[in-house]
This record gives sequence, C-alpha cells and structure tokens, in this order.
Amino acid sequence: MSAPDSSKLSLNTATVREKWNLAQAIEGCARHGIRGISPWRDQVAELGLNKAVSLVKSHGLAVTGLCRGGFFTARDWRDDNRRAIEEAHALGAQCLVLVVGGLIPGSKDLPGSREKVKEGIAAILPEARKAGVPLAIEPLHPMQAADRACVNTLKQALDICDALGDGIGVAVDAYHVWWDPELEAQVARAGKKRILAYHICDWLVPTRDLLNDRGMMGDGVIDLPRIRGMVEGAGYAGFHEVEIFSKLDWWQRDPDTVLSTCKDRHARMT
Ligand code: ZN
Repeated sequence: MSAPDSSKLSLNTATVREKWNLAQAIEGCARHGIRGISPWRDQVAELGLNKAVSLVKSHGLAVTGLCRGGFFTARDWRDDNRRAIEEAHALGAQCLVLVVGGLIPGSKDLPGSREKVKEGIAAILPEARKAGVPLAIEPLHPMQAADRACVNTLKQALDICDALGDGIGVAVDAYHVWWDPELEAQVARAGKKRILAYHICDWLVPTRDLLNDRGMMGDGVIDLPRIRGMVEGAGYAGFHEVEIFSKLDWWQRDPDTVLSTCKDRHARMT
C-alpha cells in the first residue's frame, strides 16, 4: 500500500468532544491542516446551525458527514430525522450518517426490528433525495445490535440499499466491520457510488468499554492499510475520518496533541 493522502484526513468531532466544542474543533482542524470535519448534531445545536455553517465555510473545511440520524426503532424518529436532513443540507454535508437503532423496545425480534429500520429509512429517503443529502447506513459491530444498531454487517446494509434505490449508501467504519469474513466482497459490492464515508480508529485488546474504548490508529489489531486498500480498490476517493470514542485515554488528553497524533498515525499506520 502506498501512504495515504494526508489531504484526505477528516476529524469526527467525537474524537475531541470532551475538551473542545464545535467552534474549537473547527479552529483546531484549520490550525493542524486537517481539511475535513464531521460534527455531531448536539454540538451543532449548541453552537447554532447558522454559526456552524459560516465557521465551516470560512475555514474552508469539507463536512464529511453529519452524525447522526437514525434510531428508527425509537419513538419520534420521524421528526428528528427530518431535522437531521435539514441540518445536513445546510452544512453541505457529504452524507447524513444513520445509526439505525437497536431492538424495538421491549422486543426480542431482531428480524422485525431490521424490517422497521428499513421502513423508516424508506419513509425519510424522499426528503433526503429532495435535499440532496445522501443517507449513509453505518453498520455497527454486533455487540451493539440490541441498543444502537440492529444492522451489523455491510451485507445487511447493502441489501437495504438495493431494496430502496438511489440516494442511499453506507459508511464503512473499520472499527465496526474489520472482523467480517465477507468484508472484502461486500466493500467491492458497495462500490464507489455507495461508499459514502470511511471511518478509522483501532480495536484495542482488551477492550475495556463497549462504546468508549476505541484506539488510536496503530494501537490495536485492525489491518487498516488492508481495509483502505479495499475501499480505494472499490473506487472510493473520499476522506478518511478519524472517529475515536476514548473515555479512558484520548478524551483526557490535550486536543492539540490528539490532532497531531491523528495526523502522524494516519500517515504511518493506515
Ligand atoms: Zn463511524
């Protein structure tokens, strides 16, 4: 593998969210020469949507995704997703990331929950198309099937895409899909048109917290150059978005150190 293009690095703001608000993250990216950013909606709301739009523009950043819509198995999913589409449109986001939601509350019906997710996505897709906002289904590792996403493989996500047509694709997050024996085939199946985002971090051994113990690239066991080879081999030429939830480590560090480490590891370990 040749080295990754450093201009493709993007920061998912979850990586520094304990110490920086969105305005600080935007300024931090600009200061470190990071060209892409993917904010979370609560941070956008805190800063104000218009202010967020103008800061992103004035710093010349690409918005590589907006996190997140989804949770189709929860109540009030429709209005929340409608707002998420509007915000993604205003920000010029390359996609709205969908964390689709886990089991229907009180249910043990996994196939039924997946069906409800598909219906929910189908219901919002026309609005997303009209707004020009591609929807990116992010399959999550099966350890989160119950509470966060009952879509757990790229195959499941792409089956939904096949059923629903244009305007929808996938976010390939190395942390969530690295273990999948069908990864290579499904990334190829997704292809250039449907890979809407590529997220990176690393899988730590041991993992001490199911949600918030992701590792910095190079500190774990994921063969990141190999997965980048797959997504680029499929035609993806977009950003590599660093997304690290790390309560026990990186969230406690100085965010400028985190960003310079991201740049260094992106160049050497991905
Ligand atoms: Zn992700």
